[in-house]
Amino acid sequence: MSTPEAGTFMNYIGGRWVGARSGKMMESVNPATGEVLGRVPESSAEDAQDAVAAASAAFASWRRMPAPRRAEILFRVAERLVAHKEALARLMTREMGKVLPEARGDVQEAIDMSYFIAGEGRRLRGYTAPSEMPRKAAYCVRAPLGVVGVITPWNFPMAIPSWKIVPALVCGNTVVFKPASYTPLVALKFVEIFEEAGLPPGVLNIVTGPGARAGDALVAHPDVRVISFTGSTETGLRLAEQCGRLGKRVSLEMGGKNAAIVMPDADLGLATDALVWSAFGTTGQRCTACSRIIVHRDVQADLTDRLVERARGLRLGDGLEAGTDVGPVVSGAQLERIHAYVEVGRREGARLLTGGTRVEDGALARGYFYAPTLFDRVTPQMRIAREEIFGPVTDLIEADSFEQAVAALNDSRYGLSASIFTRDITAAMRAADEIETGIVYINHGTIGAEVHLPFGGTKDTGNGHREGGLQVLDAFSEWKAVYVDYSGRLQRAQIDRD
Ligand code: NDP
Repeated sequence: MSTPEAGTFMNYIGGRWVGARSGKMMESVNPATGEVLGRVPESSAEDAQDAVAAASAAFASWRRMPAPRRAEILFRVAERLVAHKEALARLMTREMGKVLPEARGDVQEAIDMSYFIAGEGRRLRGYTAPSEMPRKAAYCVRAPLGVVGVITPWNFPMAIPSWKIVPALVCGNTVVFKPASYTPLVALKFVEIFEEAGLPPGVLNIVTGPGARAGDALVAHPDVRVISFTGSTETGLRLAEQCGRLGKRVSLEMGGKNAAIVMPDADLGLATDALVWSAFGTTGQRCTACSRIIVHRDVQADLTDRLVERARGLRLGDGLEAGTDVGPVVSGAQLERIHAYVEVGRREGARLLTGGTRVEDGALARGYFYAPTLFDRVTPQMRIAREEIFGPVTDLIEADSFEQAVAALNDSRYGLSASIFTRDITAAMRAADEIETGIVYINHGTIGAEVHLPFGGTKDTGNGHREGGLQVLDAFSEWKAVYVDYSGRLQRAQIDRD
């Protein structure tokens, strides 16, 4: 990998690295240290329009390239990601704060996705069906849509873009990518990998810059046929409204308020390990993070003691340092938002068991560190049990029965991920049936999706599309039915029946 000029990065449009037309730049900053990592274009609508023009121009030849050949390039992307995994992971840790082993996992997810979806280049299965008529063949195939606008958040700066870009490309679409403004450098390096793998100019373009300008221009552009978005529910629903007015397909992956149930017969050691990881991994900044623990009254005291002890023992620090358990949150604004929710929880009558403060000891004062925070005496009606906080904060909610626990879990506007800890197979299978989320784990935390299964949520988490699995192909293709009549005469469907 190379950079045009150390510390200064460009957009990639039509196969060329170019600055914003305005010449404006913005900074990418390490949230653990305050260090400026680089400067990237602060693009506006006109830059996004240039990128759409390049993607539109590239579409005709890219869609004609046979899918197995498109896939060969995507396999090379996977190989280059493997070769650069460590450098990419270190950059990710510096840019958004997650600890290095987790950053390696984020890059690995992009590798997994690239290998998995590149394999689809030799399948992209449609089907054949018998016709009602003699000497007539019928089959259907997936067709690309055109230019896809990809708008992504900062919390999985490589995995989430890979879930969208790789399947969009294998289906024969071209892409304009607008990454989150907190993580432009990882995004630019990801795009550079595609260039190195031999992707033709214009097939993948990137513009960095504010969502309200560069992102909005993609949503508004008539030549962008699909918007694939991950981020907050508020932004997602706004974009969907705009796409609806324009008759544009939109795939949304939004917020979560994920819960785990702990039954009296659970392995509490396992549950503690899994819940600490689900609540405080990635500093709680995962859309699948566990922010509600619904615990049966019989084991509440025991589980609470274990969780408090473990939360207090977590080591905060720079994610590059060995031994760090929890990195910073992404920004000062996010830190304030988390703390404001902690104050809301206190006012609502929840009991703060541990955490609830910014941590500024020594070198940590340079970054945005927040102590892992646990509340109990939380009721399902409280705001801290209903709204997505997106930080290292989790709630204990007491339940008296399986039925009450499942009802509390389902009492949410969101529906992404859920889990239950129990040794009772009947309770486990009933939970899998009755929980209303898109992902259910049994004896596992709420995080840990694998790329070859559908990823997504119900209710206000999404709008019915899925990422991951083969289901992701439905977001980036449409079905074309083909009829081949080789009878040599007019045969009228539904009418000529003899
Ligand atoms: P946003 O929804 O604000 O941003 C997500 C992406 O959308 C970013 O690339 C952003 O650009 C872009 N964007 C913002 N406004 C517009 C717009 N008007 N038109 C087009 N694109 C736009 O989420 P944040 O990253 O700011 O995070 C805020 C909250 O979202 C979090 O606290 C959390 O609750 C939730 N979230 C959920 C995630 C999930 O995976 N479910 C992931 C991340 C966040 P820019 O970065 O330039 O603003």
